Amino acid sequence: MVDRILNKVKRKANDFLFNSSLYAKYLLKNTQNTILMYHGCDSNGDTTYNSRHTSKDSFEKHINYLNKHAYIISLNDFFEKRFISGKPNFAITFDDGYLNNLTNALPILTKLKTKATFFITGLNNTKSDILWADFLNIASVSRKENIKICGEVFEKRKGIFYSLNSNESLYKIIKEINTSYEYKLQMMEAFGADAKFKLNPDLFEKWQLMSDKDILTCSQSEFIEIGAHGYFHNNIGTLTNSESRKELKDVKEYLENLTQKKINSIGYPDGSYNRTTLDIAEELGYKYQLAAEGFHFEEDFTDNRIRDRKGVYSWDSPANQLIINF
Ligand SMILES: [Zn+2]
Repeated sequence: MVDRILNKVKRKANDFLFNSSLYAKYLLKNTQNTILMYHGCDSNGDTTYNSRHTSKDSFEKHINYLNKHAYIISLNDFFEKRFISGKPNFAITFDDGYLNNLTNALPILTKLKTKATFFITGLNNTKSDILWADFLNIASVSRKENIKICGEVFEKRKGIFYSLNSNESLYKIIKEINTSYEYKLQMMEAFGADAKFKLNPDLFEKWQLMSDKDILTCSQSEFIEIGAHGYFHNNIGTLTNSESRKELKDVKEYLENLTQKKINSIGYPDGSYNRTTLDIAEELGYKYQLAAEGFHFEEDFTDNRIRDRKGVYSWDSPANQLIINF
C-alpha cells in the first residue's frame, strides 16, 4: 500500500519535473549505461491493441531529454565500451521493422542527429506481411467466437484467447510451446474473416512493416544501422540448434544482400535465446547480441557478446515511459 502511494507520487513528480535540469541530474546520478528498446513510433501512442508503439511526440521528447541530460551513442560504440564520461550513455534500438520507423522515427532521429539501430526480420521473403503478435492482438479485438487451431479450441475471456485444453493463453502457446512459423500461419488462418482489419487504413500504422525498398532507405541513412531480428520472428531460444542456425543465417543473408552492408548485430525476438544460440550467432558473424528485459543465464552478465535492453512502452506518460528505465 505504502509502496503504491510512493510509486504514484514518484510518477507524478516525474511528469511535473520532467524538464527540470536539476531533477534530471538527480534521476540520472546513479543510472547505468542503458540500451533502450522501442518497437513502433506511431502518431498517437494508442494502446487499444498493445503498448508497443510510442507516439512520435513522446519519442521526440525522449530523444531531446537524453541528448540534453545524457549521451546517446551508437550500438557499436556501446558494445565496444566507447563511452563518453560524465553522464550516463544510452543506445537506441527499434525492433520489428515497422513502416512507422521509417515514416516517424527516422525524421526525428535525423532532425536531432541521433543514431539508432533497427532490428528487422526476413518476413518480406515469406508468406507473411504482418508479425504474428500484431495479427493476434488486433484480430482478437473483433473476434467473439471460439477459434480452432490444429484441433485445439480457444475461447475468448477478457479479450484474450485461452486454450480449453491447457488453459494457457494462445499468446503464450505461440511464444513458448508451438513456436514454429507454420503454427503462426495456422493461427492467422483460423481467424478467417477477422483478418479484414488489414484493409482498414486507420490501422496501417499499427502493423505495416517496411518493404525492401524502405529498409534500404533506412540503411542508407547515416543515423541508422540495420540489425537482424530473426527470419520468421520465432522465439529462437526454443528452437533446435539447426533451426536457430537457419533463422540467424537466413536473416543475415537476406539483409546483407538487400543493404550490401555487413549485418553484425542481432536483437533476439521476444528476448529469446539460450547459451548455445550465442555460440551459433557468434560463428555466423554476429558481433553484438541483444537480450530484452533481462538476461536468462547467470553467465550472460560477464559475457561480452550480449547486452540487455530495457523496453519503452506507451502505457504511461512520456516522462514515465522513459524515466521508469533509469
Ligand atoms: Zn520483435
